[in-house]
Amino acid sequence: MPRTKIETKIYSKMETIEFANDHVSIVDVLSHCGIIVPDDIPVGGSYKTHCPFDFQHPDGGESAALRVYSGTNSCYCFAESLSMSPTRLWSLHRGTTQFAAAHDLLSSRGMEVGHTDNAVDTTLHVEYLAAALSLWCERTIPDWETAQLFNQPVADAFLRCKAVARKVQSEDDVERWLQVSKSLMKSTAQKAGLL
Ligand SMILES: [Zn+2]
Repeated sequence: MPRTKIETKIYSKMETIEFANDHVSIVDVLSHCGIIVPDDIPVGGSYKTHCPFDFQHPDGGESAALRVYSGTNSCYCFAESLSMSPTRLWSLHRGTTQFAAAHDLLSSRGMEVGHTDNAVDTTLHVEYLAAALSLWCERTIPDWETAQLFNQPVADAFLRCKAVARKVQSEDDVERWLQVSKSLMKSTAQKAGLL
């Protein structure tokens, strides 16, 4: 396959992610996650199917909880209240950062995007870690959506974890941060009478 090197501009990590989300179809990424969706969803329409992560749904994946939207090139899991772009879906499927997922999606399609090699893109990092923790909270704390918004101690604890995520630098840090954050969220939820 001919490789197209896009060098007119140096892309930041965030721009690389946006580029991948603009150029890789959600239907294509879903098929690599084992979910086959017809690629002729009418513009502005949607398609109902199963979520690639439905084994972790409360109903064990019985219902078709995923909606695929061609207009926004994204999908939404109603069981997890989780909105996924192509890069977010691929990063969750592969357990990587969205930047690594973007890179992987583009290079496997013969596209390479030159990017800046800034050590850590903190914004991205924090969002990725917060999403991972939020996913865990959704599965552990009943009615997490409401608790996160309206239960002050729980909301504060989540913000504190997010603040500490800025200091995460290595894979070891990620593990440690997740462990500490999970136990803080659990004990806070217990004290608040949610668990
Ligand atoms: Zn799901």
